Amino acid sequence: MEYMQIRQNFERHGFGTQLFSTKEEACCYLTDILQNQSIGFGGSETLREIGLFEALQQKNAVIWHNKVPGMAVRKLANCANTYITSANAITETGEIVNIDGTGNRVAMTAFGPQSCYYIIGRNKITTDISAAYSRCKNIAAPLNARRLGVKTPCAVKGDKCYNCNSPERICRIISVIERAPLGMKCEIIFVDQDLGF
Ligand code: SF4
Repeated sequence: MEYMQIRQNFERHGFGTQLFSTKEEACCYLTDILQNQSIGFGGSETLREIGLFEALQQKNAVIWHNKVPGMAVRKLANCANTYITSANAITETGEIVNIDGTGNRVAMTAFGPQSCYYIIGRNKITTDISAAYSRCKNIAAPLNARRLGVKTPCAVKGDKCYNCNSPERICRIISVIERAPLGMKCEIIFVDQDLGF
């Protein structure tokens, strides 16, 4: 599906949208519009690849547990006015699907900040909810498990979800955002490159 149609589908669901050719353009866009803000980041390989933390922290207070690990930092990030994350998958029809281990990202994308920005590489786009769920479980989660170094079968084999019952299982909360939550400004920033998992 063309970006124009995907963007229209998200806009019909209450999201603002932007489209950039490169991650550098997306980074410039955010550094232009966000200044003097408290900004929380969700755990994200996409944000790391963009170098967004380093860019935004020059004029904002940015809180990210990927930089300072721990539950206290996650809780602090969940008090920010602005939240930035990616997603494990989105659909061409205008929905966002995420799987969390601690639930910090699922919580903030549902309730809390005044504004929420999603940075979405083209590799995160799927046709529908079923395909999005499969991407989350069989692509995003195994690669994230391997990145985090947890002892789950998907991390060891790196190929698919085994629906494990490991104490270190990272798939514990799944959210589907069908419409932008009431009272929260949400924007999808599409980048026409592969980004993150
Ligand atoms: S449920 Fe277990 S095996 Fe499946 S992706 Fe999550 S952590 Fe990996």
